[in-house]
Amino acid sequence: MSKIQVLDQITIDQIAAGEVIERPASVVKELVENAIDAGSSSVTVEIQEGGIALIRIADNGCGIAREDVPNAFLRHSTSKIRSIQDLSHVGSLGFRGEALSSIAAVSQVELRTKTADDLFGTHYLIEGGTEKKMEEIGATDGTTFLIRQLFYNIPARRKFLKTPMTEASHVNDVLMRLALSHPEIAFRFVNNGQEKLRTSGNGKIKDVIYQLYGRDVAANLLEIHYEKNGIRLDGFLGKPIISRGNRTYENYFINGRYIRSGMVSKAIEDGYKDFMMQHKFPFVVLYLSLPPEETDVNVHPTKMEVRFHNQQAVYGTLMEGVHKTLSEPELIPFVHLEE
Ligand code: ADP
Ligand code: MG
Repeated sequence: MSKIQVLDQITIDQIAAGEVIERPASVVKELVENAIDAGSSSVTVEIQEGGIALIRIADNGCGIAREDVPNAFLRHSTSKIRSIQDLSHVGSLGFRGEALSSIAAVSQVELRTKTADDLFGTHYLIEGGTEKKMEEIGATDGTTFLIRQLFYNIPARRKFLKTPMTEASHVNDVLMRLALSHPEIAFRFVNNGQEKLRTSGNGKIKDVIYQLYGRDVAANLLEIHYEKNGIRLDGFLGKPIISRGNRTYENYFINGRYIRSGMVSKAIEDGYKDFMMQHKFPFVVLYLSLPPEETDVNVHPTKMEVRFHNQQAVYGTLMEGVHKTLSEPELIPFVHLEE
């Protein structure tokens, strides 16, 4: 027998899952992004034991048609793009068709879904990549995923998970970002039966900031609207007084997608430089809009990195926009609202 063997599909999926699914928060990110892509106006996330034992995600989006359900769990199966050309103007958060196959490869998945066109919904079970059940059920329109026992079949991975409390806080972070990037969606997060986060979905970013960060932050914001080099900036800048000792307050989104970028952080911080003490980092909720073909989000499986074709223009616009916005108003001191 030849020494070189092509791996079987389940092994391939388990290996690939490692790139997309690192912890419960990655499952939540992928499934909530799918709910957003499905046009949901309401998304509820519940977890138990930090999401290691159970993650439940319910949406009221378009649902998955019965004949598509098994296909949705195949690697590289997606309804969102057809060719690499589509990537230059992809409007959805997903496009790689990897999340469901990855999640199903490393957990026990239960799905209930129904489209508006179907009379009955579909109930589907898949564990470690193997289909266990598919049947008709009565269901309301939309999709509910239950993910049980993450990494139950990959003990080495499971060992690397942190305490339920730490994992839950990662889930919370992911949901805060998703809620900020979609103020028009009502989000609810319940951890071990306790509600941790709720947004109204009324479309107002400032209300989301208030609901997530509280009134002291919401009362100390400057609105930013700036455009240059075909790049638009919208959102809110925290007054320097509410800055922090780390970058956890920096939220920025490129064309609706939450990303991390050293360059973007640096541009924002440089814009704040004249107004802030050293070693402090600002509170920002900043939405950058630029032509999709000016960016490449297909850098990493988690899509948290982005490449800009014209880095210099992005840096310059950000730095200048932030600096100008902070320069204009009288920077009134910190407002503390009494209870
Ligand atoms: P991608 O999001 O990159 O297309 P996924 O593996 O995340 O890949 O999902 C595969 C497909 O399953 C999606 O393209 C979509 O058609 C369908 N799907 C997944 N989740 C949902 C959902 N909550 N509502 C409707 N359709 C969904
Ligand atoms: Mg997806």
